[in-house]
Amino acid sequence: MRASCLVCGGKASWSLGIRARRHGGNAVFAPELGAYLCDLHARSGAEILIAFQTMSTGRVVVTTINDGKTVSKINHAIGGAPERQEAMF
Ligand SMILES: [Zn+2]
Repeated sequence: MRASCLVCGGKASWSLGIRARRHGGNAVFAPELGAYLCDLHARSGAEILIAFQTMSTGRVVVTTINDGKTVSKINHAIGGAPERQEAMF
């Protein structure tokens, strides 16, 4: 699968992710966002908004939105084997 930049749709070689880790330690979760950037947009700067909501499901759901449009929504399990459900919009 060819990854496309979430901003311009061009060839993307950078993958976005987010993680929660102890200071200097291992991560409790570090899901990929299913969103990618080209070289230009990876280096041009960005404003990233994080809306963190707690859940009691043992899962992390990450939704990436660019310019008001949902780019991806992925439901990850914490710990255990990687389980990935990706929906491209
Ligand atoms: Zn781009």
